[in-house]
Amino acid sequence: MGEFDLITRYFKRPSQRAVLGVGDDCALLAPTSGMHMAISSDMLVEGRHFLSTVDPARLGHKALAVNLSDLAACGAEPTAFTLALSLPRIDEVWLEGFSTGLLQLANEHRCELVGGDTTQGPLNICITAFGEVPPGDALLRQNAQVGDDIYVSGTVGDARLALEVFRGTQAIDAKAFEAVRARMETPTPRIALGIALRAIANAAIDVSDGLLGDLGHILQRSQVGAQIDTTWLQHSNTFGEDAQAAGISLTLAHLPWNKRIEFALAGGDDYELCFTAPVHQREMVHAAAWESNTPVTRIGRITQTQGLVVTDPEGHPITRRFASFDHFA
Ligand code: ADP
Ligand code: MG
Repeated sequence: MGEFDLITRYFKRPSQRAVLGVGDDCALLAPTSGMHMAISSDMLVEGRHFLSTVDPARLGHKALAVNLSDLAACGAEPTAFTLALSLPRIDEVWLEGFSTGLLQLANEHRCELVGGDTTQGPLNICITAFGEVPPGDALLRQNAQVGDDIYVSGTVGDARLALEVFRGTQAIDAKAFEAVRARMETPTPRIALGIALRAIANAAIDVSDGLLGDLGHILQRSQVGAQIDTTWLQHSNTFGEDAQAAGISLTLAHLPWNKRIEFALAGGDDYELCFTAPVHQREMVHAAAWESNTPVTRIGRITQTQGLVVTDPEGHPITRRFASFDHFA
C-alpha cells in the first residue's frame, strides 16, 4: 500500500460539513457567518506523550481529544481538524485501530477530518482543530476577576496514578487500574461544558500539565492570586466505582493524603476544565454542569494578593511545592 491508498483507506470519509475534504490541495470550509474561528494545534510524540505499547484506537482518541480539550477551554464548538502524521512504516492493524478511535471521537463531535499530511519517520501525530465561538464569548485565561470562585470539572489525578502504576511506583488492583488507565488513555474533552459556560465563566483553561500549574497561567495572565482549599480531596462523591463524580475518583480517594494531593493538584494529563466565575453565577454554573452532564467542584477563590495559597482541610497553608509538567524544565 502506498501513501495515497493509505490516506484514502484510513482517513478519507464523505464530507458532511466541509465544502471540500480530504483529496485536493486544500480543504474548503464554510465558516458560519459572524462567528469567530478558534484554532488549536497539539503534537503527540512517542515516548514523550504516550507509551509505545498503547492501544492504537485509544491513541487515535487521545490525539484528537487533547485538541478538542483546547477548544472546550475556549468555549468553542469543534467543526473540523487536520492530521499531520509521521509513521515509521505502514502497519495496517495499527492504522485501522488508530483511524477508528480517531474518527469515532470526531463523529461524536461532528468534527470532520478535512486534510493533513503523511510522511515516513518516527511516530509523531500533530492535529490542528478548528472550532467556532460567537464574538466576545470565547473563554480566555486573562479575564479572572478578584472574588471569582474557582472550579474544576470531572476528576483530577487519575491519569497520573495510572502513569505511576506503569512506572511501578504505585500498585492498585486490576479493576481500579483499568479505570484510571482509561482516564489516561481516553480523556473526555469537556466540549459541552465549555459551550454552556460561555456567558458565565470569566476565565478558563484545560488541565493538561497539572491543575495548579495550569491555574497559574490564569493567575499570571489575569494578574491576580488564588486561594485553593483541599477539603474536596478528602472524600470522593462517587457511589459506585464506575461512576464519575466531581473532584476525585474513589480510586484516588484510597491513596494516602500526600499522594492524593500531589496527583490531583499537579498530576497532569487530566483534560478537565479549570475555570473562574463570579459568586453571583453559582446557580448558573450548576445549571451549566447539569445541562452538559459534567460534574464540577468549587475549589477556591481568586484573590487580589498575587500568588497561590493552598490550604489543608483545617485551613492551614500547605507549604510544599507542587511541580507541574514542563517539557524544558
Ligand atoms: P500535497 O502534496 O498537495 O500537499 P498530499 O499528497 O500531502 O497533498 O495529500 C493529499 C491529500 O490527502 C490532501 O488533501 C491532504 O490534505 C490529504 N492528507 C494527507 N495526509 C492526510 C492524513 N494523515 N489525514 C487526512 N488527510 C490527509
Ligand atoms: Mg502535503
